[in-house]
Amino acid sequence: MKQFLLCALLVSAPVWSRTAVAHDVSGPAASQNRITVHVIDMVPVGKSTLRYAEVQADRILRKAGVAAEWVDCAEPHSGRSNDGVCPEGSDPGLFIVGIRGDNAPGSSSKSALGFAMPQFPSSNHAVVLYPRIIQIVRANAYPLDERVLLAYVIAHELAHLLFGSVAHGEGIMRANWSRQEFERMTDRTLLFTSGQAHLLQRALQERRAGRGRRMFPPS
Ligand SMILES: [Zn+2]
Repeated sequence: MKQFLLCALLVSAPVWSRTAVAHDVSGPAASQNRITVHVIDMVPVGKSTLRYAEVQADRILRKAGVAAEWVDCAEPHSGRSNDGVCPEGSDPGLFIVGIRGDNAPGSSSKSALGFAMPQFPSSNHAVVLYPRIIQIVRANAYPLDERVLLAYVIAHELAHLLFGSVAHGEGIMRANWSRQEFERMTDRTLLFTSGQAHLLQRALQERRAGRGRRMFPPS
């Protein structure tokens, strides 16, 4: 069974900036467990696909005790107006996910579906490589919704940022997803383990307290 690598090393630090649209998918939650996710659709995958993926990623994170507000932001320096450019600010609960339409030239991995950059001081940038998601969906012998796979890649990379580490664990945090994980994605049963969920919440609280540090996802 062919497997697909989830993460690669840092390539560069992209700077992103269209009309920003914020949506709180699932309603209020404890403030200390809230994050804001700026999503930059550089493909573009389109609003419908993006919104579906955000709802699914939101479900995955919320099951782990982390509530997200999703903000669709423009790509800066795109040659268009600066409408929708999202300021990064200094909120430790802010994360930025760029969805790229290329294959990340220069990436250390040819099969990674995305990469996170926890080693940067802000530790809040991650990238999804959308063509590779489409490649997997088309190569699969069984149905796999590209929007669902996109959601899981986003959740996986956000977890790396929260953990402050590119280390891997079980389930969502596996370095390589196999058919078992893809099937559990399809039936919506693939979630962060209870240990991973606990650590995600703790990591966020530590981060908000200015004590961000490397953590390793438990099985
Ligand atoms: Zn990874």
